[in-house]
Amino acid sequence: MQKVVRMDDMNGVASGFPKTAGAQAVVEITDLSLVYQTADHPVTALANVNLTINKGDFVSFIGPSGCGKTTLMRVVADLEHPTAGTALVNGGSPEQARRDRAYGYVFQAPTLYPWRSVARNVMLPLEIMGLPKADQRERARAALELVGLTGFERKYPWQLSGGMQQRVSIARALSFDPDLLLMDEPFGALDEITRDRLNDELLSLWKKTHKTVIFVTHSISEAVYLSTKIVIMSARPGRIIDIIDSPLPRDRSAETRDSQAFLDVAHRVRQGLLAGHGKDD
Ligand code: ADP
Ligand code: MG
Repeated sequence: MQKVVRMDDMNGVASGFPKTAGAQAVVEITDLSLVYQTADHPVTALANVNLTINKGDFVSFIGPSGCGKTTLMRVVADLEHPTAGTALVNGGSPEQARRDRAYGYVFQAPTLYPWRSVARNVMLPLEIMGLPKADQRERARAALELVGLTGFERKYPWQLSGGMQQRVSIARALSFDPDLLLMDEPFGALDEITRDRLNDELLSLWKKTHKTVIFVTHSISEAVYLSTKIVIMSARPGRIIDIIDSPLPRDRSAETRDSQAFLDVAHRVRQGLLAGHGKDD
């Protein structure tokens, strides 16, 4: 059995968040630290993190395993609570954002229920929200269309490839049309070709829907290809060591990967990661 998804972890419809462009802060993190209390000793997962994410940004968190990427995302999702400092989502508390169903959460594993069809997996959050059946069906249809899975509604997860299963879990996160999408290494388990294809699909979805995306990855090329902003973190305790506002044009294609600008950004990310590693390891 894969990681169990708590029902109330599963996101919702953003209510009344204005659809205007411009530098409107969706996430504002100020002097944030988070210490886990464990049986033997406290673990400082995040230390003094400051970060602003604006509406329409595609932001990647990149850093070594254990540097606090998931913890930071879970703070935004109100699944962890800071020990010090503040996190604001849409100008309010993460708890309010969770109640407003302001974000959709995509986990590394697709976390689909094997006994539910593709459509009924996507409908699950809508069912929990108590939407009328016809609405559920229409929204599931639209979300599956967004991820290119029209025609697969009646299939079961085990009949699909890993990449297709992850697209179903993205459709589920999109089903209630949240403005903010939180994606924790969603393509980490996929082969590189599939990952590249899903990266392109995700970019076209992002362009079509104007969502704000926070994306965790281990892959430098994935971070550089997708992001408008790259947040480089170092381990023990997780700190932000560099934030790169990408100079790449928003429209990206296979040629982007060969451009000098792409190589320059990738170089800077690699340097940042090396510097972060050097401190402790
Ligand atoms: P990442 O996603 O970058 O790999 P995490 O945010 O999962 O890192 O973890 C950051 C640090 O906090 C790690 O040292 C991890 O072992 C620790 N950690 C994560 N969750 C917990 C928890 N619930 N209790 C104690 N320590 C935790
Ligand atoms: Mg993680």
